[in-house]
Amino acid sequence: FAKERGIDLHLYTEDMNDKLLERLSIENDMRRGIERKEFFLVYQPKIDTRSGKTVGAEALIRWNHPTKGMISPAQFIPVAEDTGLIVPLGEWVLSEACRQLKAWEAQGFRPIQVSVNLSSRQFEKKDLISRIRNIISEYRVDPACLQLELTESSVMQTPELSNHTLYQLKKSGLSIALDDFGTGYSSFSYLPHLPLDVLKIDKGFVKDVTVNPDNAAIVTAMIALAHNLGLKVICEGVETKEQLDFLKDRDCDEIQGFYYSRPLPPEEFEKWLVRVIN
Ligand code: C2E
Ligand code: CA
Ligand code: CA
Ligand code: CA
Repeated sequence: FAKERGIDLHLYTEDMNDKLLERLSIENDMRRGIERKEFFLVYQPKIDTRSGKTVGAEALIRWNHPTKGMISPAQFIPVAEDTGLIVPLGEWVLSEACRQLKAWEAQGFRPIQVSVNLSSRQFEKKDLISRIRNIISEYRVDPACLQLELTESSVMQTPELSNHTLYQLKKSGLSIALDDFGTGYSSFSYLPHLPLDVLKIDKGFVKDVTVNPDNAAIVTAMIALAHNLGLKVICEGVETKEQLDFLKDRDCDEIQGFYYSRPLPPEEFEKWLVRVIN
């Protein structure tokens, strides 16, 4: 048994080593990748449930690694958060989204709202507000066209402090979405005090909303909760017509998911915008 445990332990440490090495290599590659402009943004349409029109898009980061090819954010965002690299990377995301918004405006596209994910590491920074204001004025974008997505867990870590920061963001004209709603340690008592615009129901709940009565009950309640608090609701991860119909029936305001579209590179998103149905 002891021997077995020994082997186990050995394998375990080797595995840990591999993980550590992989993280180190991702970290180094990321530093270089930021300089060499290997990152880019894709845009996933957000559809107004009632009109069926595209009202916005979520900007999602992608990494085209020179030798490994496309690396998913699920792999590198956690490393970026641990190392603090998410701060410069997140700032690049915000700048790039603003640059793109301005470019679309100049090309004559109708105004849409772009949402950008903000990591808790960025959210914690003392100079967050001034940095965001600088980016907005550098690109001269209408702050109303910019939405920040903050996860429930990062906001609820320090609710009082978050509240203060969120108010300042709102004062700058941005709108705020609470992302991954329902997955963190939800504090329902705190929710009414936060200056939010949108609750974003996590795709984990949407996934089997039509087959799992518990999830159906939870999603129905979350939509009602949001509406009673005067917030809009967006559901992410909508993949089927059945899910869409369920959410329409519950009066969900906006839909994001593969049913309509995957996240698209800018040129593809432009084509999406000019399609007649939009
Ligand atoms: P998220 O913010 O919850 O983003 C939604 C994720 O769901 C995206 O994955 C999107 O591609 C995926 N998705 C959208 N519709 C569907 C669907 O119908 N079915 C399924 N199965 N998935 C769908 P992605 O792009 O791989 O991003 C994963 C996570 O990485 C994001 O989750 C977010 O937490 C993080 N992330 C991505 N870009 C950024 C960024 O610029 N900054 C920060 N801080 N985090 C980012
Ligand atoms: Ca998000
Ligand atoms: Ca989410
Ligand atoms: Ca998520």
